[in-house]
Amino acid sequence: LLGTYGDDNKTPVYVVGGFVRDLFLGIKNFDIDLVVEGNGIEFARYASKQLGVKMVEHEKFLTASLFFKDGFRIDIATARTEYYDKPAELPKVDVSTIKKDLYRRDFTINAMAIKLNSGEFGTLYDFFGSRKDLENKIIRVLHKLSFIEDPTRIIRAVRFEQRFDFKIEDETLEILKETLEGNYLEKVTGQRIRQELEKIIKEKDPVKGIKRLAELKILMHIFPKTYFTTTMEKKLKNMLVSFDLLKNIYTKRNIFYAFLRILLEFYDMESLKNVEERYGIPKKFVDELKKTERRLIPVIEMIKTRIKFSDIYKVIGKPIFETATHIMAYLDDNNSREYFKKYLERVFSTKLNIKGNILKDKFNIKSSPEIGKIMNSIFCYKLDNPNINEMEKLKELL
Ligand code: ATP
Repeated sequence: LLGTYGDDNKTPVYVVGGFVRDLFLGIKNFDIDLVVEGNGIEFARYASKQLGVKMVEHEKFLTASLFFKDGFRIDIATARTEYYDKPAELPKVDVSTIKKDLYRRDFTINAMAIKLNSGEFGTLYDFFGSRKDLENKIIRVLHKLSFIEDPTRIIRAVRFEQRFDFKIEDETLEILKETLEGNYLEKVTGQRIRQELEKIIKEKDPVKGIKRLAELKILMHIFPKTYFTTTMEKKLKNMLVSFDLLKNIYTKRNIFYAFLRILLEFYDMESLKNVEERYGIPKKFVDELKKTERRLIPVIEMIKTRIKFSDIYKVIGKPIFETATHIMAYLDDNNSREYFKKYLERVFSTKLNIKGNILKDKFNIKSSPEIGKIMNSIFCYKLDNPNINEMEKLKELL
C-alpha cells in the first residue's frame, strides 16, 4: 500500500534499517522506518490522508511519523541529496540517493533497504555486504570515521552485539577502541549517551550489556568512578530477578534509575554531582541513593534474620520502587527475597480504619505530634498483627 502511495507521488519509497535487518533474522519488528526519495513530508501527508491516521511532522528534519490506533508506528524520512529538487529524474540518481542515506547509518546490518513501489516491490538494496555480515553475525561500521562522527554508535555496537549474540568485527573493534581512547564519548551530550544507555537497559539481558560495556572499557568513559566487579554483577542480577517479583506491587517504576542505583553506589558527592549534571539525573535520585546507602546494612541484616515487619518499617518505611530493588540487589537467597516482598505487600496494603480525629474527639488528645505518634504505633502493631482490633489496641495504648 505504501508503495502505491509512492507511485501516486512519483517518489521511490523504501523500508530501511532495523525492520529489514529483523526481517532477515526472522524477528518481529513493529517499528517501520521508511525513506522517501523526494519529499518525505509530502509523502507522509498523502499517506496519512489515504489511511486516515494521525501524523506528526518534523519540518526541520524533513521527517514525519504516522501513528496507528494499535500503537503501531511508521517513521518517514527524506533521503537528503543535492539532487533533492529533481527527484527520480535519472534512475542512477535514485540509487545513489538511497545509497547515500544508507551509508550514513551506524552498521552494515542496519544499512539495507527494500523498495516498496510497484514494479520493483521487494527489491533488496544491499550496497555494503549487509546480508553477508548478518549471515556471519558481524557488527561492522560502514567507514572508518563512523564512531568519530557519532560516538554513541560505540554503545549501539554493544547493544546489537549482545542482543543478537553477534561479534564486533576486528577492525571495527580497533576503531571503537581508538575512538574511546580519544575521549570522543566525552564530547557527546549526556542526553544522547543516556538515551543509548536506557536502550541497553531495556534489552532482554541488560546485565550482559553492561558487563560488555565494562569489558570494553566503555563504561568508564560514561561513569568514570564505576568499577564493574563480580559483586556488582551479582547485585545487578539479583535486582533483575526482583523486577519480576515486585511487578504487582509498584506501578511507578523506573528501571533505568534502579540500575543507576547500583552503578553509582558509594560515589562521593562530587562525582555524583558531575554525573547528575551530565546525565540530567534529578537531585531527588541522589538524595534517595545516599539515604538508602546508609540504611542498607541494617535493613539487609533485619531481612535475613526475619525481624518483624514493624522494625523494618522503622528503618525504611514505605520505600519507592528504586529503593526496594536496591535492597533486593543485596538479597541472594529466595527466602529472603520472599520475606521482603511480603513486607512490601503488607506495608502497602495495611490501612488503619480509625482516624486521627477520633483521638481528638473521643479521647481529648489535642497535640498533633502526639496523635501522629499514637497512630503510628497502631500502624506498626497492625503490620505485625494484621487482624488486630484497632480500637482495643488504642485503648490499651492510652
Ligand atoms: P531497535 O530494534 O532497537 O529499534 P533499530 O535498528 O530500529 O533497533 P533505532 O535506534 O530505532 O534502532 O534506529 C533506527 C535505524 O536508524 C537504525 O536501524 C539505523 O539504521 C539508524 N540509526 C539510528 N541511530 C543511528 C546512529 N546513531 N547512527 C547511524 N544510524 C543510526
